[in-house]
Amino acid sequence: MNNKNFDTCASFHINNGAFYGRLIRLNNVINEIIAKHNYPQTVNGIIAECTALAALLASTIKYDGLFTLQTKSDGPVGMVVVDVSSEGKIRACAEYDEDRINAAKALRKTQNEHEETPHFLGHGYLAFTVDQGGPDKLYQGIVDIQGKTLSECAMRYFKQSEQIDTFIKLFLHEPQTPEGQWFSAGILLQKLPFAGGKINKTTDINEDWNEAVVFMDSLQADEVFNAELTGQELLHRLYHAHKLEVEQTKDYSFACRCNREKLQAVLSSISPEELDSLIENGRITAECHFCGEKYSFEKGELIKQ
Ligand SMILES: [Zn+2]
Repeated sequence: MNNKNFDTCASFHINNGAFYGRLIRLNNVINEIIAKHNYPQTVNGIIAECTALAALLASTIKYDGLFTLQTKSDGPVGMVVVDVSSEGKIRACAEYDEDRINAAKALRKTQNEHEETPHFLGHGYLAFTVDQGGPDKLYQGIVDIQGKTLSECAMRYFKQSEQIDTFIKLFLHEPQTPEGQWFSAGILLQKLPFAGGKINKTTDINEDWNEAVVFMDSLQADEVFNAELTGQELLHRLYHAHKLEVEQTKDYSFACRCNREKLQAVLSSISPEELDSLIENGRITAECHFCGEKYSFEKGELIKQ
């Protein structure tokens, strides 16, 4: 299945351009990423949600290179990495401890609470970096993992570090059968920094902002994942009375940036003694964490001349 309404980002403005937003709905990208790994369902869900958030945040930044969302924490899922290139190529991977995931799930069940991503991440941080190739062009944002949901955690970042009014809602659909598909989505609304005071004669900007947030929060998963609706139609349902302008869309696909030369350079920095410990059947094999591609070298190829 290839639905043109998914794996896209719609950019929009409302209220005469005072607020801007993004709507991202993912399907094939998520399923391809998940198929590259053999992760437990819980981790697949976390990857799908983190990918929607990464694409959402990347879409608000102008960059030419690589945007990375990374979590590092002490919970059962100790690390998640999602890369989003400026061309919309996405890849993701995670590190986890399956026994601890099962223990955390059992604990949650007895407390009858919803299993949200931060529960499995534990204490730690969420970082965003933008790498544009040059040495001084690395942008980094960082926030503690706090809050019940991943979107709450991301909103704290904007409140604390960027001081931009931001509302984010994330959606996840887990397949109910082995053949079923994953979907994830995110919607974001930001108040433009220069939008202040009255934007029309009758209401002030804070009232308008609060109303726009209430409307966005009313969006439900069954609408977001309705394959019949285009992003434009979804936004029209929400904001047809708010001078909606949908500006542009962007497409996403899965792609890994690994290659033999890069890996060879990394392995060549290891000492010859350590290389010896990695040799199996006369060769050193390494597997890409993102796509599972296996690369095999002879020791001679990895010794610096
Ligand atoms: Zn790879």
